[in-house]
Amino acid sequence: MRKQIAAANWKMNKTFREGQSLLRELETGMPQLTSNQSVVVALPFPYLGMLKLEIHSKSIQIAAQNCHHAREGAFTGEVSVVMLKSIDVPYCIIGHSERREYFHETNAQLADKINHCLAADITPIFCCGEPLAVREANNQNTFVEAQLNESLFHLDEAAMQKIVIAYEPIWAIGTGKTASSDQAQEMHAHIRGVLQKQFGSTVASSISILYGGSVKGSNAAEIFSQPDVDGGLVGGASLIAEEFLKIVAALKQ
Ligand code: PEP
Repeated sequence: MRKQIAAANWKMNKTFREGQSLLRELETGMPQLTSNQSVVVALPFPYLGMLKLEIHSKSIQIAAQNCHHAREGAFTGEVSVVMLKSIDVPYCIIGHSERREYFHETNAQLADKINHCLAADITPIFCCGEPLAVREANNQNTFVEAQLNESLFHLDEAAMQKIVIAYEPIWAIGTGKTASSDQAQEMHAHIRGVLQKQFGSTVASSISILYGGSVKGSNAAEIFSQPDVDGGLVGGASLIAEEFLKIVAALKQ
């Protein structure tokens, strides 16, 4: 059975104190998770080390929201995978659409980030997803396939099995516009089919594919009930403990 994951992405929100109290609320309200379920919270860089020490529940793991594509060097203001590893960060979001759009990250750079994460034994949460114009032209399958191809297809089967994928249609991120559960399922099945062709069915069936795009407490159960949806990557609703806890409770067992 694939891991079912509720991943929070705080983005550039919350002061340190606000983050502390949100985590405290999450710990207090966290339901008992099955061995098949995980909760991951992607924190802003400055809080990773300190907030990690304040999490007592084994149910919550932290993630970085990004890393640099070089291993080290003269990149003022950037954070490397080696740095994340040195403070035991277990997950890192790679290729969020905001990074692709505002910071012009390319599929080739994302492939480098993936390689660094895997070398450090950090689980990448690899984001893919199409903009509205591509969806309107009905080219979303080809678009997402190219993203997977250019950033992940250099991996071997064992490495690929360590990746978590998040399908996030850009038109649904932070817009309040959610893909219907059927649209999510259709794309997740397509992604799994593409993975199967490239890496075989054992790998394809073992990879968690999360849906992201305006997931809330009120729609999570329906989206997560789809057979190829293995949880969600959540932005806005992850900033409110009550909402995110409802999303966690909606994970399949
Ligand atoms: C995201 O940023 O990954 C995301 C899905 O945001 P939201 O839930 O706010 O749409």
